[in-house]
Amino acid sequence: MKEKIYTIPITEVFEKETFCPFCDLYQKLETEAVKYAVGPAMMEPDFRAVTNRKGFCKKHIADIESESKALALSLMLKTHLETLSAILDKEITEPKKKMFSKQTAPSSLDGISGEIDKTVYDCTICGKISHSFDRYVDTFFHLIATEESFREMFRNTGGFCFEHFSLLLSEGKHKLKEGAYLEFSRQLIANQKEKMEKHYQNILDFIDQFDYRNANKPPKAPRDTVYQCCKLLNGVFEQKQKKLEDI
Ligand SMILES: [Zn+2]
Ligand SMILES: [Zn+2]
Repeated sequence: MKEKIYTIPITEVFEKETFCPFCDLYQKLETEAVKYAVGPAMMEPDFRAVTNRKGFCKKHIADIESESKALALSLMLKTHLETLSAILDKEITEPKKKMFSKQTAPSSLDGISGEIDKTVYDCTICGKISHSFDRYVDTFFHLIATEESFREMFRNTGGFCFEHFSLLLSEGKHKLKEGAYLEFSRQLIANQKEKMEKHYQNILDFIDQFDYRNANKPPKAPRDTVYQCCKLLNGVFEQKQKKLEDI
């Protein structure tokens, strides 16, 4: 049953403790999409055709480049560069000169830059992720609307990152009936407030630790308070190595 393909990951992620269930789902899709792009996809002519036309965003080209699949990646880059080369070879047509008008740039140049943007930055991985992620969001609301046991799980979640909180608040409006949406949004906001207050308190305690009067007291806030609070605002991300002068 097709529905099961999407409901299982949703119920699984809500059963466990996560920072944000939707960040968790997103990261899983992202890991799979990157592995797929440099793995079996290389052998699929359909996928190769897509990566000839489209490229990768900066985040995903970095993910792909870090995979130890130099041959697969160089094959993809080869065909991609050939597509770009064909775009550059397009003829630049001169605009028809009107009397008294200023010299304008040929409009065919706009076409070339548009094609380059699409070929270089329209991300194959982002596209693949968002297709499945949208289905997950649909399924989440289907479960909220139909399963009391899932609503119970949702009531017990510790909130979301703000990106996904905002997404659920706006999508719920279109995907739930009015009464159900009202109940859902109240619970969503209540959970989010609780999560935010916890992080806010941690930030206050963390700042307090810099006060000389607290120098000998044990720290009240977790060491990774700042990182956790950043995740709350922008979603889960991989923490970079600290620069020494920043510590
Ligand atoms: Zn999130
Ligand atoms: Zn991307």
